[in-house]
Amino acid sequence: MPPPAESSDFRQLGTPEAIVSILRAQRITSPTAVQVATLPDAFAGKDVLAQAPTGSGKTLAFGIPLVTLLNNASPALPRYPRALIISPTRELADQIADVLADIGAAAGLRVLSLVGGDPVAKQQTLLAAPVDIAVVTPGRAHDLRRRGLLNLEQVLTVVVDEADMLADMGFLPDVLGLVRACPKSAQRIAFHVLHMEPEDIERLQNALGAVRDGVTFCRICCNISREDVCRICINSQRDASTICVVEEPKDIQVIERTGEYSGRYHVLGGALDPLANVGPKDLAIAPLLKRIGGVLPDLEGEESPQVKEVILATDPDTEGEATASYLVRLLKDFPELTISRLASGMPLGGDLEFVDELTLSRALSGRLKL
Ligand SMILES: [Zn+2]
Repeated sequence: MPPPAESSDFRQLGTPEAIVSILRAQRITSPTAVQVATLPDAFAGKDVLAQAPTGSGKTLAFGIPLVTLLNNASPALPRYPRALIISPTRELADQIADVLADIGAAAGLRVLSLVGGDPVAKQQTLLAAPVDIAVVTPGRAHDLRRRGLLNLEQVLTVVVDEADMLADMGFLPDVLGLVRACPKSAQRIAFHVLHMEPEDIERLQNALGAVRDGVTFCRICCNISREDVCRICINSQRDASTICVVEEPKDIQVIERTGEYSGRYHVLGGALDPLANVGPKDLAIAPLLKRIGGVLPDLEGEESPQVKEVILATDPDTEGEATASYLVRLLKDFPELTISRLASGMPLGGDLEFVDELTLSRALSGRLKL
């Protein structure tokens, strides 16, 4: 049985009195589950990624902290919004803009909906006055940026709404381009409508920069690391002559759990996927080749170790296989190098993460030389 609805609930979640009054005037007194789950982190300036179906109150979940933040921020300028909201469709963008205009009006915030289908000339006129919040569809936002009509360098918060829909519609590269055009310090908030697999969430999180807080990438193997060099690369007990190539940092944990592997790793950061616009340049392939070629010194003051074997441990699915084949072609340039692939017995079409330890141990020890 949920507690009785009270406007004080919004207060308890960190909503300032001024905004609580605005909400109360609109008869919004009881936070929804999504708002309860995300408001404290959003108020704290943390990145937020949450599942929130349509009708769950997600617009207010990001709208309330946004209006609070902008209410206290320095005044906006023409063409330089302080908040960017990326939406998959113009209908949704218009709805979001309406909700934000309602709660932002008392704070004097100006909200624009900049969507495809509307005349650019009209949007140019709208952008000639200071704009606090821009709600955009990805294609039009890119177009406006190219024309110099929209600049994202002053954005304090970027919201990706219905991220899974945007990805399904093929907009993810555009979305990431827009997020990248915002300052690194900007808060990132993203909602997905449907249940997403943990790996997809992790990919999205990585892509949106949610891992940037105190976390970086090992300069040798591209694993997630709190230090410049990760704990595996810095461990002299690990055999530096063998490199196991994986798609994602979590694959390292999976292989480590088998206890069968004492070499080092290389994290590609994904797999080749033409449909999702992921090409060789999007993966950490160049750093891998440098390591194998001995160009990249492993640790300061040490000789770069000679790599004798590369184990391709990309996922046993279409993208993983395509990535392994691509790497085999590149690695044939190193005649001394042994190239191997995890043995068969791995479930086809699967993900390394879901392979049991015994199967993975066997696949590793029975790996096939290519
Ligand atoms: Zn490393």
